[in-house]
Amino acid sequence: MSDYPTPALYIDGDWIAVASGGSRPVINPADGATLAVLPLASEAELARAVAAAQRGFAIWRATPAHERHERISRATRLLRERADSIARIMTLEQGKPLAESRREVLLSADIIDFLAEEGKRAYGRLVPPRTNAVFAQAVTRVPVGPAALFTPWNFPLNLPARKVGAALAAGCSAILKPAEETPGSAVELVRAFHDAGLPAGVLNLVCGDPAQVSSYLIAHPGIRKVSFTGSIPVGKHLGELCARGVKRYTAELGGHAPVLVLPDADAAHVARLSVTAKYRNAGQVCASPTRFLVHRSLFESFVASFAAGAQAVRVGNGLNADTEMGPLAHYRRIGEMESLVEDAVACGANLACGGRRLPGAGFFFAPTLLTNVPQTARILQQEPFGPMAVVNPWDTLEEAIEQANGLPYGLAAYLFTRDLSLAHRVSADLEAGMVGINHFGVSQPETPFGGIKESGHGSESGQEGLAAYLDTKLTSFGSA
Ligand code: NAD
Repeated sequence: MSDYPTPALYIDGDWIAVASGGSRPVINPADGATLAVLPLASEAELARAVAAAQRGFAIWRATPAHERHERISRATRLLRERADSIARIMTLEQGKPLAESRREVLLSADIIDFLAEEGKRAYGRLVPPRTNAVFAQAVTRVPVGPAALFTPWNFPLNLPARKVGAALAAGCSAILKPAEETPGSAVELVRAFHDAGLPAGVLNLVCGDPAQVSSYLIAHPGIRKVSFTGSIPVGKHLGELCARGVKRYTAELGGHAPVLVLPDADAAHVARLSVTAKYRNAGQVCASPTRFLVHRSLFESFVASFAAGAQAVRVGNGLNADTEMGPLAHYRRIGEMESLVEDAVACGANLACGGRRLPGAGFFFAPTLLTNVPQTARILQQEPFGPMAVVNPWDTLEEAIEQANGLPYGLAAYLFTRDLSLAHRVSADLEAGMVGINHFGVSQPETPFGGIKESGHGSESGQEGLAAYLDTKLTSFGSA
Protein backbone atom coordinates (compact mmCIF):
# COMPACT_ATOMS: atom_id res chain seq x y z
CA MET A 1 0.00 0.00 0.00
CA SER A 2 1.48 3.28 -1.07
CA ASP A 3 1.03 5.33 2.11
CA TYR A 4 2.70 2.72 4.34
CA PRO A 5 6.43 3.27 3.85
CA THR A 6 8.72 0.30 3.30
CA PRO A 7 10.28 -0.33 6.71
CA ALA A 8 14.07 -0.56 7.02
CA LEU A 9 16.56 -1.33 9.77
CA TYR A 10 18.75 1.54 10.95
CA ILE A 11 22.33 0.89 11.98
CA ASP A 12 25.13 3.40 12.47
CA GLY A 13 23.16 6.16 10.74
CA ASP A 14 22.34 4.06 7.65
CA TRP A 15 18.98 2.69 6.52
CA ILE A 16 19.15 -1.01 5.62
CA ALA A 17 16.42 -2.24 3.28
CA VAL A 18 17.78 -5.77 2.77
CA ALA A 19 19.19 -7.76 5.69
CA SER A 20 20.71 -11.21 6.07
CA GLY A 21 18.00 -12.65 8.36
CA GLY A 22 15.37 -12.78 5.61
CA SER A 23 12.09 -10.86 5.76
CA ARG A 24 8.47 -11.07 6.88
CA PRO A 25 5.27 -9.32 5.86
CA VAL A 26 3.67 -6.54 7.87
CA ILE A 27 -0.07 -7.19 7.96
CA ASN A 28 -2.94 -4.71 8.20
CA PRO A 29 -5.13 -6.17 11.00
CA ALA A 30 -8.21 -4.40 9.61
CA ASP A 31 -8.25 -6.46 6.40
CA GLY A 32 -5.44 -9.03 6.57
CA ALA A 33 -3.65 -7.42 3.59
CA THR A 34 0.14 -7.19 3.38
CA LEU A 35 1.29 -3.60 3.89
CA ALA A 36 5.01 -4.07 3.32
CA VAL A 37 7.91 -6.48 3.73
CA LEU A 38 10.15 -6.04 6.76
CA PRO A 39 13.87 -6.97 6.54
CA LEU A 40 15.11 -9.07 9.45
CA ALA A 41 18.51 -8.91 11.09
CA SER A 42 20.72 -11.92 11.71
CA GLU A 43 23.85 -11.96 13.88
CA ALA A 44 25.82 -10.03 11.24
CA GLU A 45 23.55 -6.96 11.56
CA LEU A 46 23.20 -7.37 15.33
CA ALA A 47 27.00 -7.33 15.74
CA ARG A 48 27.16 -4.16 13.63
CA ALA A 49 24.41 -2.58 15.70
CA VAL A 50 26.24 -3.25 18.98
CA ALA A 51 29.53 -1.92 17.59
CA ALA A 52 27.68 1.19 16.38
CA ALA A 53 25.97 1.65 19.75
CA GLN A 54 29.33 1.43 21.51
CA ARG A 55 30.79 4.14 19.27
CA GLY A 56 27.57 6.14 19.63
CA PHE A 57 27.80 5.90 23.41
CA ALA A 58 31.33 7.34 23.40
CA ILE A 59 30.04 10.38 21.47
CA TRP A 60 26.74 10.84 23.30
CA ARG A 61 27.94 10.50 26.90
CA ALA A 62 30.51 13.21 26.17
CA THR A 63 27.83 15.53 24.75
CA PRO A 64 26.65 18.06 27.39
CA ALA A 65 23.10 17.48 28.64
CA HIS A 66 21.99 20.87 27.25
CA GLU A 67 23.16 19.92 23.79
CA ARG A 68 21.52 16.51 24.05
CA HIS A 69 18.29 18.27 25.03
CA GLU A 70 18.53 20.59 22.02
CA ARG A 71 19.05 17.69 19.60
CA ILE A 72 16.22 15.62 21.14
CA SER A 73 13.85 18.61 21.02
CA ARG A 74 14.48 18.94 17.30
CA ALA A 75 13.31 15.34 16.89
CA THR A 76 10.13 15.91 18.92
CA ARG A 77 9.32 19.00 16.83
CA LEU A 78 9.52 16.77 13.75
CA LEU A 79 7.29 14.15 15.40
CA ARG A 80 4.64 16.81 16.04
CA GLU A 81 4.91 18.19 12.50
CA ARG A 82 4.51 14.66 11.12
CA ALA A 83 1.74 13.60 13.53
CA ASP A 84 -0.87 13.02 10.81
CA SER A 85 1.28 10.84 8.58
CA ILE A 86 2.72 8.83 11.50
CA ALA A 87 -0.79 8.31 12.91
CA ARG A 88 -1.89 6.84 9.58
CA ILE A 89 1.07 4.43 9.57
CA MET A 90 0.19 3.37 13.13
CA THR A 91 -3.46 2.74 12.32
CA LEU A 92 -2.56 0.77 9.21
CA GLU A 93 -0.18 -1.54 11.07
CA GLN A 94 -1.87 -1.78 14.47
CA GLY A 95 -5.55 -1.06 13.83
CA LYS A 96 -6.39 1.52 16.51
CA PRO A 97 -8.64 4.45 15.52
CA LEU A 98 -6.82 7.29 13.77
CA ALA A 99 -7.64 9.79 16.54
CA GLU A 100 -6.06 7.45 19.13
CA SER A 101 -2.99 7.07 16.93
CA ARG A 102 -2.65 10.83 16.56
CA ARG A 103 -2.96 11.33 20.33
CA GLU A 104 -0.28 8.66 20.79
CA VAL A 105 2.13 10.52 18.48
CA LEU A 106 1.63 13.81 20.35
CA LEU A 107 1.87 12.12 23.75
CA SER A 108 5.06 10.35 22.67
CA ALA A 109 6.60 13.73 21.80
CA ASP A 110 5.56 15.01 25.26
CA ILE A 111 7.09 11.95 26.97
CA ILE A 112 10.41 12.43 25.18
CA ASP A 113 10.43 16.18 25.89
CA PHE A 114 9.80 15.60 29.60
CA LEU A 115 12.64 13.09 29.81
CA ALA A 116 15.02 15.34 27.84
CA GLU A 117 14.26 18.17 30.29
CA GLU A 118 14.88 15.83 33.23
CA GLY A 119 18.20 14.89 31.61
CA LYS A 120 19.35 18.44 32.38
CA ARG A 121 18.51 17.83 36.03
CA ALA A 122 20.34 14.54 36.64
CA TYR A 123 21.79 16.10 39.77
CA GLY A 124 24.41 14.53 42.00
CA ARG A 125 25.56 15.78 45.44
CA LEU A 126 28.64 16.56 47.51
CA VAL A 127 29.08 14.52 50.68
CA PRO A 128 31.11 16.16 53.51
CA PRO A 129 34.39 14.24 53.97
CA ARG A 130 35.34 12.65 57.31
CA THR A 131 38.88 13.99 57.17
CA ASN A 132 40.77 17.05 55.91
CA ALA A 133 42.84 14.72 53.72
CA VAL A 134 39.80 14.46 51.50
CA PHE A 135 38.75 17.63 49.70
CA ALA A 136 35.38 16.52 48.29
CA GLN A 137 33.27 13.42 47.77
CA ALA A 138 31.22 13.89 44.61
CA VAL A 139 28.26 11.63 43.83
CA THR A 140 27.31 11.87 40.16
CA ARG A 141 24.74 10.18 37.94
CA VAL A 142 26.34 8.72 34.83
CA PRO A 143 24.75 6.98 31.84
CA VAL A 144 24.66 3.18 32.19
CA GLY A 145 25.85 2.50 28.63
CA PRO A 146 24.43 1.06 25.41
CA ALA A 147 20.85 -0.12 26.00
CA ALA A 148 18.81 -2.85 24.27
CA LEU A 149 15.13 -1.87 24.16
CA PHE A 150 12.33 -4.36 23.36
CA THR A 151 8.83 -3.05 22.71
CA PRO A 152 5.50 -4.74 21.85
CA TRP A 153 2.80 -3.96 19.29
CA ASN A 154 0.03 -2.40 21.39
CA PHE A 155 1.54 1.11 21.59
CA PRO A 156 3.88 1.13 18.60
CA LEU A 157 5.20 4.64 19.31
CA ASN A 158 4.50 5.41 22.97
CA LEU A 159 6.47 2.44 24.32
CA PRO A 160 9.54 3.05 22.11
CA ALA A 161 9.29 6.76 23.09
CA ARG A 162 9.43 5.98 26.81
CA LYS A 163 12.53 3.84 26.41
CA VAL A 164 14.38 5.75 23.68
CA GLY A 165 13.53 9.09 25.33
CA ALA A 166 14.92 8.01 28.69
CA ALA A 167 18.03 6.34 27.25
CA LEU A 168 18.99 9.32 25.08
CA ALA A 169 18.16 11.89 27.77
CA ALA A 170 20.45 10.05 30.19
CA GLY A 171 23.34 9.95 27.69
CA CYS A 172 23.01 6.27 26.75
CA SER A 173 23.04 4.97 23.21
CA ALA A 174 20.37 2.44 22.21
CA ILE A 175 19.34 -0.42 19.99
CA LEU A 176 15.57 -0.52 19.65
CA LYS A 177 13.82 -3.74 18.66
CA PRO A 178 10.17 -2.89 18.07
CA ALA A 179 7.54 -5.59 17.55
CA GLU A 180 7.82 -7.09 14.08
CA GLU A 181 4.02 -6.69 13.74
CA THR A 182 4.26 -2.87 14.01
CA PRO A 183 7.69 -1.64 12.89
CA GLY A 184 6.51 1.41 10.90
CA SER A 185 5.79 3.76 13.83
CA ALA A 186 9.17 2.97 15.44
CA VAL A 187 10.89 3.59 12.12
CA GLU A 188 9.25 7.04 12.05
CA LEU A 189 10.52 7.73 15.57
CA VAL A 190 14.04 6.85 14.49
CA ARG A 191 13.63 8.88 11.29
CA ALA A 192 12.78 11.96 13.37
CA PHE A 193 16.03 11.54 15.33
CA HIS A 194 17.97 10.91 12.12
CA ASP A 195 16.55 14.06 10.51
CA ALA A 196 17.27 16.01 13.71
CA GLY A 197 20.96 15.25 13.26
CA LEU A 198 21.49 12.67 16.01
CA PRO A 199 25.08 11.38 15.61
CA ALA A 200 25.40 8.00 13.88
CA GLY A 201 25.35 5.02 16.24
CA VAL A 202 23.51 6.76 19.10
CA LEU A 203 20.19 5.20 18.10
CA ASN A 204 19.83 1.99 16.07
CA LEU A 205 16.81 -0.11 15.09
CA VAL A 206 16.73 -3.83 14.36
CA CYS A 207 13.96 -6.37 13.82
CA GLY A 208 14.37 -10.11 13.57
CA ASP A 209 13.45 -13.30 15.34
CA PRO A 210 12.63 -11.86 18.82
CA ALA A 211 14.21 -14.74 20.78
CA GLN A 212 17.36 -14.66 18.67
CA VAL A 213 17.73 -10.88 18.83
CA SER A 214 17.18 -10.71 22.59
CA SER A 215 19.49 -13.61 23.44
CA TYR A 216 22.27 -12.15 21.24
CA LEU A 217 21.97 -8.57 22.47
CA ILE A 218 21.51 -9.36 26.17
CA ALA A 219 24.51 -11.73 26.21
CA HIS A 220 26.74 -9.23 24.41
CA PRO A 221 29.21 -7.56 26.78
CA GLY A 222 28.72 -4.27 24.90
CA ILE A 223 25.10 -3.99 26.13
CA ARG A 224 24.79 -2.62 29.68
CA LYS A 225 21.06 -2.02 30.07
CA VAL A 226 17.95 -3.91 28.97
CA SER A 227 14.35 -2.74 28.99
CA PHE A 228 11.43 -4.94 27.96
CA THR A 229 7.67 -4.45 27.72
CA GLY A 230 5.59 -7.54 27.00
CA SER A 231 4.30 -10.74 28.52
CA ILE A 232 5.31 -12.12 31.93
CA PRO A 233 6.83 -15.39 30.60
CA VAL A 234 9.07 -13.54 28.12
CA GLY A 235 9.88 -10.91 30.75
CA LYS A 236 11.01 -13.56 33.22
CA HIS A 237 13.13 -15.24 30.56
CA LEU A 238 14.86 -11.98 29.62
CA GLY A 239 15.39 -11.27 33.33
CA GLU A 240 17.26 -14.56 33.64
CA LEU A 241 19.41 -13.67 30.63
CA CYS A 242 20.16 -10.27 32.20
CA ALA A 243 21.08 -11.85 35.54
CA ARG A 244 23.82 -13.91 33.84
CA GLY A 245 25.59 -10.76 32.73
CA VAL A 246 24.49 -8.64 35.75
CA LYS A 247 22.77 -6.20 33.40
CA ARG A 248 20.44 -3.44 34.60
CA TYR A 249 16.90 -4.53 33.69
CA THR A 250 13.55 -2.75 33.55
CA ALA A 251 10.51 -4.98 32.97
CA GLU A 252 7.02 -3.70 32.20
CA LEU A 253 4.98 -6.89 32.10
CA GLY A 254 1.30 -7.71 32.08
CA GLY A 255 -1.54 -6.63 34.31
CA HIS A 256 -5.04 -7.78 35.19
CA ALA A 257 -6.37 -4.61 36.74
CA PRO A 258 -9.15 -4.86 39.33
CA VAL A 259 -11.73 -2.07 39.60
CA LEU A 260 -13.44 -1.78 42.99
CA VAL A 261 -16.82 -0.07 42.81
CA LEU A 262 -17.98 0.82 46.33
CA PRO A 263 -21.67 1.15 47.30
CA ASP A 264 -21.63 4.98 47.34
CA ALA A 265 -20.43 5.23 43.70
CA ASP A 266 -22.64 6.38 40.82
CA ALA A 267 -23.03 3.05 38.96
CA ALA A 268 -24.11 4.52 35.60
CA HIS A 269 -21.34 7.12 35.59
CA VAL A 270 -18.63 4.59 36.52
CA ALA A 271 -19.94 2.16 33.89
CA ARG A 272 -19.71 4.89 31.22
CA LEU A 273 -16.11 5.72 32.14
CA SER A 274 -15.31 2.01 32.33
CA VAL A 275 -16.59 1.20 28.85
CA THR A 276 -14.39 3.91 27.33
CA ALA A 277 -11.34 2.77 29.30
CA LYS A 278 -11.93 -0.95 28.74
CA TYR A 279 -12.34 -0.92 24.97
CA ARG A 280 -9.64 1.68 24.24
CA ASN A 281 -7.10 0.07 21.91
CA ALA A 282 -9.43 -2.97 21.90
CA GLY A 283 -8.39 -3.71 25.49
CA GLN A 284 -4.80 -4.35 24.42
CA VAL A 285 -3.41 -2.22 27.22
CA CYS A 286 -1.46 -3.60 30.17
CA ALA A 287 -3.22 -1.22 32.59
CA SER A 288 -6.65 -1.92 31.04
CA PRO A 289 -9.43 -2.30 33.66
CA THR A 290 -10.60 -5.92 33.47
CA ARG A 291 -11.90 -7.35 36.76
CA PHE A 292 -14.82 -5.15 37.82
CA LEU A 293 -15.64 -5.95 41.43
CA VAL A 294 -18.94 -4.21 42.12
CA HIS A 295 -20.82 -4.00 45.42
CA ARG A 296 -23.90 -6.21 45.20
CA SER A 297 -26.25 -3.23 45.72
CA LEU A 298 -25.00 -1.69 42.43
CA PHE A 299 -24.35 -4.90 40.52
CA GLU A 300 -27.50 -5.10 38.37
CA SER A 301 -27.52 -1.43 37.37
CA PHE A 302 -23.76 -1.43 36.70
CA VAL A 303 -24.03 -4.52 34.45
CA ALA A 304 -27.00 -3.06 32.55
CA SER A 305 -25.21 0.26 31.90
CA PHE A 306 -21.94 -1.46 31.02
CA ALA A 307 -23.56 -3.92 28.59
CA ALA A 308 -25.52 -1.10 26.89
CA GLY A 309 -22.28 0.89 26.52
CA ALA A 310 -20.30 -2.10 25.23
CA GLN A 311 -22.93 -2.92 22.62
CA ALA A 312 -22.93 0.69 21.42
CA VAL A 313 -19.15 0.78 20.77
CA ARG A 314 -18.62 1.33 17.04
CA VAL A 315 -16.17 -1.34 15.85
CA GLY A 316 -14.47 -0.97 12.47
CA ASN A 317 -11.47 0.02 10.43
CA GLY A 318 -9.48 2.59 12.40
CA LEU A 319 -9.21 4.78 9.31
CA ASN A 320 -12.98 5.46 9.38
CA ALA A 321 -13.72 8.66 11.27
CA ASP A 322 -16.57 7.19 13.36
CA THR A 323 -14.71 4.05 14.53
CA GLU A 324 -14.32 3.77 18.30
CA MET A 325 -12.61 0.36 18.45
CA GLY A 326 -10.39 -1.24 15.81
CA PRO A 327 -9.37 -4.86 15.24
CA LEU A 328 -7.05 -6.90 17.44
CA ALA A 329 -3.41 -6.48 16.48
CA HIS A 330 -2.85 -9.92 15.02
CA TYR A 331 -4.66 -13.10 14.16
CA ARG A 332 -3.44 -15.14 17.20
CA ARG A 333 -5.35 -12.84 19.56
CA ILE A 334 -8.74 -13.87 18.04
CA GLY A 335 -8.23 -17.55 18.87
CA GLU A 336 -7.15 -16.57 22.40
CA MET A 337 -10.30 -14.46 22.95
CA GLU A 338 -12.57 -17.25 21.70
CA SER A 339 -10.96 -19.79 23.97
CA LEU A 340 -11.20 -17.51 27.05
CA VAL A 341 -14.94 -16.97 26.46
CA GLU A 342 -15.58 -20.66 25.84
CA ASP A 343 -13.74 -21.62 29.02
CA ALA A 344 -15.54 -18.98 31.15
CA VAL A 345 -18.98 -20.06 29.92
CA ALA A 346 -18.10 -23.74 30.49
CA CYS A 347 -17.16 -22.78 34.07
CA GLY A 348 -20.62 -21.25 34.56
CA ALA A 349 -20.11 -17.56 33.67
CA ASN A 350 -22.86 -15.52 32.04
CA LEU A 351 -22.03 -13.98 28.65
CA ALA A 352 -23.79 -10.60 28.80
CA CYS A 353 -22.64 -9.40 25.38
CA GLY A 354 -20.08 -10.00 22.62
CA GLY A 355 -17.96 -13.12 22.92
CA ARG A 356 -17.49 -13.71 19.21
CA ARG A 357 -15.34 -12.85 16.26
CA LEU A 358 -16.94 -10.36 13.88
CA PRO A 359 -17.35 -11.32 10.22
CA GLY A 360 -14.95 -10.05 7.56
CA ALA A 361 -11.30 -10.31 6.65
CA GLY A 362 -9.89 -8.31 9.60
CA PHE A 363 -9.17 -9.49 13.15
CA PHE A 364 -12.28 -8.00 14.78
CA PHE A 365 -13.74 -9.24 18.05
CA ALA A 366 -16.94 -7.92 19.61
CA PRO A 367 -16.69 -5.89 22.86
CA THR A 368 -17.35 -8.60 25.42
CA LEU A 369 -18.80 -8.62 28.92
CA LEU A 370 -18.88 -11.68 31.19
CA THR A 371 -20.63 -11.60 34.55
CA ASN A 372 -20.73 -13.86 37.63
CA VAL A 373 -17.51 -15.50 36.50
CA PRO A 374 -16.23 -18.27 38.82
CA GLN A 375 -12.65 -17.87 40.09
CA THR A 376 -11.72 -21.11 38.35
CA ALA A 377 -12.24 -19.59 34.89
CA ARG A 378 -9.02 -18.94 32.98
CA ILE A 379 -9.98 -15.32 32.34
CA LEU A 380 -9.75 -14.67 36.07
CA GLN A 381 -6.23 -16.11 36.23
CA GLN A 382 -4.71 -14.83 33.01
CA GLU A 383 -4.67 -11.34 31.51
CA PRO A 384 -7.04 -11.40 28.51
CA PHE A 385 -5.29 -8.49 26.72
CA GLY A 386 -8.33 -7.90 24.56
CA PRO A 387 -11.82 -6.34 24.56
CA MET A 388 -13.13 -8.41 27.48
CA ALA A 389 -14.44 -7.34 30.88
CA VAL A 390 -15.56 -9.39 33.85
CA VAL A 391 -18.09 -8.04 36.38
CA ASN A 392 -18.54 -9.89 39.66
CA PRO A 393 -20.46 -8.83 42.79
CA TRP A 394 -19.10 -8.60 46.35
CA ASP A 395 -20.61 -8.21 49.80
CA THR A 396 -17.75 -7.19 52.09
CA LEU A 397 -14.86 -4.85 51.33
CA GLU A 398 -12.38 -7.35 52.78
CA GLU A 399 -13.58 -9.96 50.28
CA ALA A 400 -13.25 -7.46 47.40
CA ILE A 401 -9.70 -6.46 48.39
CA GLU A 402 -8.73 -10.11 48.74
CA GLN A 403 -9.99 -10.83 45.23
CA ALA A 404 -8.27 -7.73 43.84
CA ASN A 405 -4.95 -8.85 45.33
CA GLY A 406 -5.46 -12.52 44.58
CA LEU A 407 -3.36 -12.76 41.40
CA PRO A 408 0.40 -12.59 40.81
CA TYR A 409 -0.20 -9.37 38.80
CA GLY A 410 0.30 -5.95 40.42
CA LEU A 411 0.29 -3.27 37.74
CA ALA A 412 -2.76 -0.99 37.96
CA ALA A 413 -5.83 -1.04 40.23
CA TYR A 414 -8.79 1.33 40.29
CA LEU A 415 -11.27 2.36 42.92
CA PHE A 416 -14.54 4.31 42.74
CA THR A 417 -16.05 5.91 45.83
CA ARG A 418 -17.03 9.37 47.07
CA ASP A 419 -15.54 8.61 50.50
CA LEU A 420 -11.96 9.85 50.18
CA SER A 421 -10.82 8.64 53.58
CA LEU A 422 -12.04 5.14 52.70
CA ALA A 423 -10.36 5.50 49.29
CA HIS A 424 -7.10 6.30 51.07
CA ARG A 425 -7.39 3.19 53.26
CA VAL A 426 -8.38 0.83 50.44
CA SER A 427 -5.73 2.13 48.04
CA ALA A 428 -3.08 1.46 50.70
CA ASP A 429 -4.23 -2.17 50.80
CA LEU A 430 -4.22 -2.66 47.03
CA GLU A 431 -1.14 -4.48 45.75
CA ALA A 432 -0.47 -2.46 42.63
CA GLY A 433 2.21 -0.15 41.29
CA MET A 434 -0.46 2.39 40.31
CA VAL A 435 -3.87 3.10 41.82
CA GLY A 436 -6.43 5.31 40.07
CA ILE A 437 -9.14 6.71 42.33
CA ASN A 438 -12.34 7.78 40.57
CA HIS A 439 -10.63 7.79 37.16
CA PHE A 440 -8.49 5.64 34.88
CA GLY A 441 -5.73 8.05 33.85
CA VAL A 442 -2.64 6.60 35.52
CA SER A 443 -0.24 6.98 32.58
CA GLN A 444 1.23 10.47 32.13
CA PRO A 445 4.66 11.63 30.91
CA GLU A 446 5.44 13.12 34.34
CA THR A 447 4.33 10.18 36.51
CA PRO A 448 6.08 6.83 37.03
CA PHE A 449 4.48 3.88 35.27
CA GLY A 450 5.35 0.45 36.60
CA GLY A 451 4.18 -2.65 38.39
CA ILE A 452 4.96 -4.79 41.41
CA LYS A 453 4.76 -8.56 41.93
CA GLU A 454 5.03 -10.36 38.58
CA SER A 455 3.98 -7.25 36.65
CA GLY A 456 7.59 -6.20 36.57
CA HIS A 457 10.10 -4.00 38.26
CA GLY A 458 11.29 -0.49 37.68
CA SER A 459 9.25 2.35 36.26
CA GLU A 460 9.08 4.29 33.03
CA SER A 461 8.19 7.98 32.56
CA GLY A 462 8.53 10.49 35.39
CA GLN A 463 11.89 11.04 37.09
CA GLU A 464 12.09 7.29 37.68
CA GLY A 465 12.07 6.67 33.92
CA LEU A 466 15.31 8.60 33.56
CA ALA A 467 16.89 7.07 36.68
CA ALA A 468 16.62 3.62 35.10
CA TYR A 469 19.36 4.65 32.63
CA LEU A 470 21.72 6.22 35.19
CA ASP A 471 24.36 4.62 37.39
CA THR A 472 25.55 6.22 40.61
CA LYS A 473 29.26 7.04 40.73
CA LEU A 474 31.38 8.31 43.62
CA THR A 475 34.51 10.36 42.92
CA SER A 476 36.51 11.15 46.05
CA PHE A 477 39.08 14.01 45.73
CA GLY A 478 42.03 13.87 48.12
CA SER A 479 43.60 17.23 49.05
CA ALA A 480 46.62 17.71 46.78
P1 NAD B 1 4.36 -12.71 22.64
O1 NAD B 1 4.78 -13.03 24.04
O2 NAD B 1 4.77 -13.60 21.52
O3 NAD B 1 4.86 -11.25 22.24
C1 NAD B 1 4.77 -10.11 23.09
C2 NAD B 1 5.94 -9.20 22.73
O4 NAD B 1 7.15 -9.79 23.19
C3 NAD B 1 6.12 -9.03 21.22
O5 NAD B 1 6.48 -7.69 20.97
C4 NAD B 1 7.26 -9.98 20.86
O6 NAD B 1 8.01 -9.51 19.75
C5 NAD B 1 8.09 -9.95 22.12
N1 NAD B 1 8.84 -11.18 22.35
C6 NAD B 1 8.37 -12.45 22.35
N2 NAD B 1 9.37 -13.32 22.64
C7 NAD B 1 10.49 -12.57 22.84
C8 NAD B 1 11.83 -12.87 23.19
N3 NAD B 1 12.25 -14.12 23.44
N4 NAD B 1 12.71 -11.84 23.29
C9 NAD B 1 12.33 -10.56 23.07
N5 NAD B 1 11.06 -10.22 22.76
C10 NAD B 1 10.15 -11.20 22.65
O7 NAD B 1 2.83 -12.65 22.64
P2 NAD B 1 1.71 -11.95 21.78
O8 NAD B 1 0.77 -13.00 21.29
O9 NAD B 1 2.23 -10.97 20.78
O10 NAD B 1 1.04 -11.19 22.97
C11 NAD B 1 0.52 -12.01 23.99
C12 NAD B 1 0.70 -11.49 25.35
O11 NAD B 1 1.76 -10.55 25.47
C13 NAD B 1 -0.52 -10.72 25.77
O12 NAD B 1 -1.49 -11.60 26.26
C14 NAD B 1 0.00 -9.82 26.83
O13 NAD B 1 -0.04 -10.48 28.07
C15 NAD B 1 1.44 -9.62 26.49
N6 NAD B 1 1.70 -8.27 26.03
C16 NAD B 1 1.90 -7.34 26.99
C17 NAD B 1 2.14 -6.03 26.62
C18 NAD B 1 2.35 -4.97 27.65
O14 NAD B 1 2.22 -3.80 27.33
N7 NAD B 1 2.70 -5.32 28.88
C19 NAD B 1 2.17 -5.70 25.27
C20 NAD B 1 1.96 -6.70 24.30
C21 NAD B 1 1.74 -7.99 24.70
